[in-house]
Amino acid sequence: MSGRHPALRAPLLTEAQIRERVAALGREITEAYAGRELTITCVLKGGFIFLADLVRAIEVPCTMDFMVISSYGMGTRSSGVVRILKDLDAPIDGKDVLVVEDIVDSGLTLSYLLRNLETRRPASLEVCSLLSKPGRHDNDVPIRFVGFEIPDDFVVGYGLDAGERFRELPEIWTVDETRL
Ligand code: 5GP
Repeated sequence: MSGRHPALRAPLLTEAQIRERVAALGREITEAYAGRELTITCVLKGGFIFLADLVRAIEVPCTMDFMVISSYGMGTRSSGVVRILKDLDAPIDGKDVLVVEDIVDSGLTLSYLLRNLETRRPASLEVCSLLSKPGRHDNDVPIRFVGFEIPDDFVVGYGLDAGERFRELPEIWTVDETRL
C-alpha cells in the first residue's frame, strides 16, 4: 500500500506480536487435543488469515470447513441477528469441533453460531478467537482460546476489514471511524 490511509491510527499489534501469540495458541491447542483429530470451523471472511497461520502451528491432524455468515447491524456494530450465507460442507456430529473466529465483540454472533452448531451434536465444541473485547461481552461467552484481549476500539488488518478494506495489512490497527 502506498502511504498510510488517513483512517489508520496506530498499530495495536505488530506482526511479531501476532506471530508469537499464534505460535503459542498452536501449542495450547495441540496440547488440549493431543491424540484426537480436530474439525476446524472457520468463519469467513475475517478469520482467513488467522486460520492459515494457526493451522500451521497446530500439530494434531485437522480438517477445515468454512461458514460465511452475515450479521445485520448498524455500521460497525452487530445485532446478533445472523444469516448463514454459506453453511459447512460436511456434518459435524461426533466431531471435536473448534470454531476459529477473528474477533468477539458483543459476543452475539458467536452465541448464535454456537447455538446453531450445538444442534448438530458435535462430540465437543470450543472456540478460538484471535481477539476479544472483554469490555463488550459477558464473561459467559465461552472462548476457550483467546489470542489477545483488546480495548473497545474498532480494529482492522490481519483479515479484519472496514468496508472490505485493510484485510491484507500484516498488523492490527486501530482506526478512526470518522475517516473511513
Ligand atoms: P459481535 O457479534 O461479537 O458483536 O461481532 C462479531 C463480528 O463483528 C466479528 O466477527 C467482526 O466481523 C465484526 N467486528 C466486531 N468488532 C470488530 C472490529 O473491531 N473490527 C472489525 N473489522 N470487525 C469487527
